[in-house]
Amino acid sequence: MGLRIHYGGTFDPVHCGHLAIARAARDHLQVAVRLLPAADPPHRPAPGANAEQRAQMLALAIGEEPGLLLDRRELERARRQPGVPSYSVDTLRELRAELGPHQPLAWLVGADSLLGLPGWHEWEALFGLAHFIVAARPGSSLEQDLPPELAAALQGRWASHERELLGTPAGRLLRLQAPLRGESASQVRQQIAIGGPWRALLPEPVADYIADHGLYGAAGP
Ligand code: ATP
Repeated sequence: MGLRIHYGGTFDPVHCGHLAIARAARDHLQVAVRLLPAADPPHRPAPGANAEQRAQMLALAIGEEPGLLLDRRELERARRQPGVPSYSVDTLRELRAELGPHQPLAWLVGADSLLGLPGWHEWEALFGLAHFIVAARPGSSLEQDLPPELAAALQGRWASHERELLGTPAGRLLRLQAPLRGESASQVRQQIAIGGPWRALLPEPVADYIADHGLYGAAGP
């Protein structure tokens, strides 16, 4: 049974670093990557772009590119259950229920997200639901910055080859072989806010969308 990969994030906005990582995972593991934007948190106005705008930017970034897909399930869940916060663990439970207990399922994250895992809702349950594929990220060292509780939880889970993700449905970690990418969504938002250069950080249709909609304080087209 083949591997299923999901790549969750706020994508506020999706940038070239996100795309590079999704492509590296797709090409290395030879399987489609499903980019999954997070819903807006309930009871708060969206900080940057709202969930629908973030999903539209993802759709533009993906275009017709083979092996990259948009998964709108968190937005749809938020519409069905207004006011209920959307957690990755719920998404993974939903996916697990759909895929059955045996299909290997992986969640793609950057190293900073993996280091923050102990802050995720029901984080220890995640290893029973999915593998993690981890992309290195400048400024986050999986060797030096690992909190002790996370180091203990990760012990014995690292896979040395992607084959190992296929032998079991969940619970292993794989380092993604991909060049380091420095882009971040906060850098994009900050550059727009201060009038600095930002378009090169983004796929062109996403940059056009931001300008057309005046997002993040961008001047119009
Ligand atoms: P922000 O700067 O607002 O925190 P971000 O650039 O980290 O945003 P997210 O949507 O929060 O973007 O990221 C989604 C996922 O992609 C996270 O797991 C994050 O670690 C990962 N990611 C984002 N940018 C990179 C990058 N340049 N290299 C590696 N991983 C990345």
